[in-house]
Amino acid sequence: MELNQLTAYQLAELYQKNGCTQKDAVDSLKKAIETKDRDARQIHAYVTAENLSPRHRKAEKTSKPSLWGVPIAIKDNICVEGEEITCGSKILKGFVSPYNATVIEKLLNAGAIVLGRTNMDEFAFGSSCETSCYGPTRNPRDPERVPGGSSGGSAAAVADHTAIAALGSDTGGSIRQPAAFCGVVGMKPTYGRVSRYGLIAFASSLDQIGPITKDVRDNAMILNAIAGYDTKDSSSANVPVPDYMEFLGKSIKGMKIGKPKEYFAAGLGGETEKIINQSIDKLKSLGAEIVDVSLPHTSYSVNVYYIVAPSEASSNLARFDGVRFGFRDKSAKTLLEMYENSRGQGFGAEVKRRIILGTYSLSSGYYDAYYLKAMKVRTKIKDDFDQAFKKVDAIVTPTAPSPAFKLGEKTTNPLEMYLSDIYTISANLAGVPAISLPCGLASKLPIGIQFMGKPFDEGNLYKLAHAFEQAK
Ligand code: GLN
Repeated sequence: MELNQLTAYQLAELYQKNGCTQKDAVDSLKKAIETKDRDARQIHAYVTAENLSPRHRKAEKTSKPSLWGVPIAIKDNICVEGEEITCGSKILKGFVSPYNATVIEKLLNAGAIVLGRTNMDEFAFGSSCETSCYGPTRNPRDPERVPGGSSGGSAAAVADHTAIAALGSDTGGSIRQPAAFCGVVGMKPTYGRVSRYGLIAFASSLDQIGPITKDVRDNAMILNAIAGYDTKDSSSANVPVPDYMEFLGKSIKGMKIGKPKEYFAAGLGGETEKIINQSIDKLKSLGAEIVDVSLPHTSYSVNVYYIVAPSEASSNLARFDGVRFGFRDKSAKTLLEMYENSRGQGFGAEVKRRIILGTYSLSSGYYDAYYLKAMKVRTKIKDDFDQAFKKVDAIVTPTAPSPAFKLGEKTTNPLEMYLSDIYTISANLAGVPAISLPCGLASKLPIGIQFMGKPFDEGNLYKLAHAFEQAK
């Protein structure tokens, strides 16, 4: 087996036995990226397959398997000092991160190697990785299909073994839905669990960084390294971080798992529903108790999200004006023309759509009717989870209503694209942790199962996910 095909933990074990060097691992990955990422399949998980400059810090080798020497790919919206960062947008082309995001500092301190920037939907707006200014990423399981989005590059790289593991960001499903489409594991932690410092903001009250990995163990190992309180992020939570690895290999006998009826209603069907129901039977055979629950405001979540997220995005993106960052239209004759042309040429169509939606719902006269109303319904959605978690330890749902769709299939119909996040959005609105992992194949395409948990209960989600993954 080539080194690039290993999981992070397997590579770490190999280091323990002095079976390879860090350089061997980096070389193996660089070769995989250079030869596979732009081959006939055109997976294009990375923004660039050239000039990959691995970053690392001198760190003592640990006495047990750890992230020491493990290369990790980073989504193009997380700052790595001295590297270009663009969020898949022309407007940021040429902008170099002046500092490391907290997650990058933490990875480097743990001895990990940061290697490569992965492709994404422009500013993380999307579910298919088709809106990047670098062109689309394709799904390694079937290159005719999308890898999901917006962290499609990270998920595709992990699935294609051009990355050992990767970081993504999730505002409404962008870690979990691509993980499901590519057949890998993705965790969106509790809001506040992982610092957002150095993550270019999409919707600040929803964004979280999380790991995308080949298996559950790797995911726990990476969250161990990146979680924790950070004074540089005012929304970071000062809650102790347990050792997530300790939750692995434990029985889930007696664990109460809620099955929300709203997630199994119209819209779901076919092979996805069949595979999810088989997976629920598997949970029962592992000793878990399946409990019917209701999250009555679920049907409002997409509507609420598409008010709240674009509102915050329109405000966050106001800073990209051609003055301070990246691209500027040099031919403009007046200041106003410079703003208009830089934003007009720098942003793609979906970004403009979101800015217009967001500024509209925040504008005086409409604020109460849209933004304020959406925030009230958001509280109801969170209350639903609080009620459900009085009865159950975790909640099980599909991650997405269907397996990966074809490239171009939903690009002309934004509403249909928005609906592909119908099962992932609520976890962001409620701030709860959620993990997606592979649970079967529908006509050779991976299907993901989602487990949502109580705030800061990522440990029990890993316990559940690991037990599920390991059971045959
Ligand atoms: N697909 C959703 C959107 O388009 C979620 C994106 C995300 O989580 N970054 O907004």
